[in-house]
Amino acid sequence: MTLDEAWRILRENQYKRTKNRDSILHFFSKNDRYLTALDIRNFMENENPGISFDTIYRNLTTFTELGILEETELGGERRFRMHCDPGVHHHHFICTSCGKTRNIPHCPMDIITVHLPNHEVEGHKFEIYGKCPTCVA
Ligand SMILES: [Zn+2]
Ligand SMILES: [Zn+2]
Ligand SMILES: [Zn+2]
Repeated sequence: MTLDEAWRILRENQYKRTKNRDSILHFFSKNDRYLTALDIRNFMENENPGISFDTIYRNLTTFTELGILEETELGGERRFRMHCDPGVHHHHFICTSCGKTRNIPHCPMDIITVHLPNHEVEGHKFEIYGKCPTCVA
C-alpha cells in the first residue's frame, strides 16, 4: 500500500485529508513493521503534542476498515502496519521484538482443508511469531 493508494481510498470514501491522518499515514509508510498506538503517539509528540489516544485509535480503526492498514494482536496489544500489496497470497512471520514482518509465500490451508470435508471455508488467518535474525543476535 503506497501513500497515494491510501489517499485514493480515503477520498473515495469521503474522508478529508487532515494533518493527523497525514502524519499517521506518513509514519506507517516510513516504518515497514507493526506499530502500536503508543509508537504513533510518541512520534506525533513533536508535530501534534495534543493528539489523544482516542483520535489515534479512531483513525487506526478507519484505516483498518478501509484496508489501508492491517491489524494483529501481540502481547495483548493491537498493532498495525501498512497493508501489503494485494497480489501473491502469502502469510507473515512477525517479530515480537521489533514488529518487522517477513513474507512466507506458502499457505498451510492446502493441508488443513483435508480435515474439513463438506465445510465451506470463507477465510483464514495464519501468523507466525518469534524473533527476527536482528533481534535474535
Ligand atoms: Zn504481507
Ligand atoms: Zn526483530
Ligand atoms: Zn493462506
